[in-house]
Amino acid sequence: MNTQNVEFIKSAVSTAAFIRDGRPTIVFSGKSNVGKSSVINRLLNRKNFARVGEQPGKTVHINYFLIDKTAYFVDLPGYGYAKVAKSERARWGALMEEFFAEEGLITLGVMIVDARHKPTADDVTMAEWFKASGCPTVIVANKLDKLKKSEIEPNMALIRETLGMDERYPLIPFSAEKGTGRELLLGEILKYC
Ligand code: GDP
Repeated sequence: MNTQNVEFIKSAVSTAAFIRDGRPTIVFSGKSNVGKSSVINRLLNRKNFARVGEQPGKTVHINYFLIDKTAYFVDLPGYGYAKVAKSERARWGALMEEFFAEEGLITLGVMIVDARHKPTADDVTMAEWFKASGCPTVIVANKLDKLKKSEIEPNMALIRETLGMDERYPLIPFSAEKGTGRELLLGEILKYC
């Protein structure tokens, strides 16, 4: 799959706009500012395809990118931004419920968390949604470059334990900034494309 060939297809704001054409669909989630856009850009080797530093909490839509006319990368709206209005939070919850309730929309989940911290309550909720979907899911621990070597192992263990995700779920230490973990994550994605 040629990851250089990428097209923005659409922003979906309701179920009617979800794409159901049978192509493998790789679904990326993460709290605001975790580096979700940066991870996607790193995978595609693009600087600014998925927008980096988009105003947090203002983007309750689901972005679809078509890769090499073969598979979709789906950018779920970021969550957990404290200053977001209640109404926006409710829109986020409703859209996520619709997305996760429908079978067949996810081929592989990519849950991005912060390598430095214990996953948040919202991260845990997201993990529950992916688990309940029964879809294969990969955990990406981003911002690895901010950790000391000695912190990596204990942090990865804490992430697994907090999310309640055992070895069935691959955990990839990642740095969107440095490119660490890119090949591993691409390898997981290509298994399904
Ligand atoms: P999003 O809100 O999850 O899409 O996050 P962005 O991709 O916009 O990134 C949020 C901030 O984190 C930006 O300032 C990025 O430059 C920074 N960032 C993203 N990934 C990394 C990483 O791997 N390492 C470091 N040090 N910073 C990162």
